[in-house]
Amino acid sequence: MSFSIEQVRADFPILTREVNGQPLAYLDSAASAQKPLAVIEAEADLYRHGYAAVHRGIHTLSAEATERMENVRAGVAQFINARSAEEIVFVRGTTEGINLVASSWGNQAVAAGDNLIISAMEHHANIVPWQMLCERVGAELRVIPLNQDGTLQRERLASLIDDRTRLLAMTQVSNVLGTENPVREMIAEARAAGVKVLVDGAQAVMHHAVDVQALDCDFYVFSGHKIYGPTGIGVLYARQDILQAMPPWEGGGSMIATVSLSEGTTYTGAPWRFEAGTPNTAGIIGLGAALDYVSRVGLDEIEQYETTLMRYALRELQAVPDLTLYGPGDRRGVIAFNLGQHHAYDVGSFLDNYGIAVRTGHHCAMPLMEFYQVPAMCRASLAMYNTEEEVDRLVAGLIRIHRLLG
Ligand code: PMP
Repeated sequence: MSFSIEQVRADFPILTREVNGQPLAYLDSAASAQKPLAVIEAEADLYRHGYAAVHRGIHTLSAEATERMENVRAGVAQFINARSAEEIVFVRGTTEGINLVASSWGNQAVAAGDNLIISAMEHHANIVPWQMLCERVGAELRVIPLNQDGTLQRERLASLIDDRTRLLAMTQVSNVLGTENPVREMIAEARAAGVKVLVDGAQAVMHHAVDVQALDCDFYVFSGHKIYGPTGIGVLYARQDILQAMPPWEGGGSMIATVSLSEGTTYTGAPWRFEAGTPNTAGIIGLGAALDYVSRVGLDEIEQYETTLMRYALRELQAVPDLTLYGPGDRRGVIAFNLGQHHAYDVGSFLDNYGIAVRTGHHCAMPLMEFYQVPAMCRASLAMYNTEEEVDRLVAGLIRIHRLLG
């Protein structure tokens, strides 16, 4: 299918609304993307026609809902080219996926004196769980530093790895700088040294195709809500041999084989062992609809459209006086900036008055704010439904704010 921006926009009902008397220009999809009708209707359809608790029921509705949910697991596996559906764990989001790995795998595989490596551009979700693990077991957290242009000092990886390194955890695409890291080569380097690799795909999966077998990572995590799916659902991919060997994380229903008050509990196999309790069935169905939708539009088409739009935005933004952009020229999805010395909140509030939604603050990446020595940044993000006209409005808005505030 060839990409039609008119068709894509028509699929997202919210894009027709007004904000502060202006047409909405939604430039905050990196925080959370809007939902196409296909997702909204898939969830509604489940609740209207097919809802029941999954896994435990003998009755028809329960069996149907279970089948739909397990079909989504297979669909997710296909979407990221996992070897099997059994490598897919449903979690609440990227944050929970990383915490699951840090607790279950981490407690078992990381000991006092070991070390883990992250990068200086990580989201707090890919920093704090590792800090907590290191504190728990007495391990050391090492950090790949950044260049001023927002790329990684990639060559530093070799000197950070030693025979006590257990994990490299890094983002594929930075949620602040838009940097696309050379994860494939870095994974190969780490794995050659016997180091496991977790990739935070939260800002990557919606922008281009992801193939976990080609990447050869051990863990890959992403959130449904950033890829046009519902909130409260996400995916942890883990290589099957690793997942099978990981101990349970949360205990409860659905993750057990047998429970006895005298003999204790035995657990079911992966991935269900990691999904205690009643799952977010509607979220899973919505996620499935989102991945189907994205696949229907075509990830290659989306990538091409967004790349052109990003180039356009970076070129047009040069017309704004006193604008500081953070991050490399070649980037995905996001443009973080500050206007003169004005606080990001002020700039963001003005833009909101013009109907333009951008994110302001530290973007859950305080170490990056420290690196660039700013308290906050504005961030405009570009998704498949954004247009050159919206970019023009952002540019005009910023020029106007500059004129007003000086
Ligand atoms: N990692 C990155 C790179 C992100 O952008 C985000 C979301 N801002 C997260 C992790 C956390 O995702 P979630 O809040 O959906 O768990």
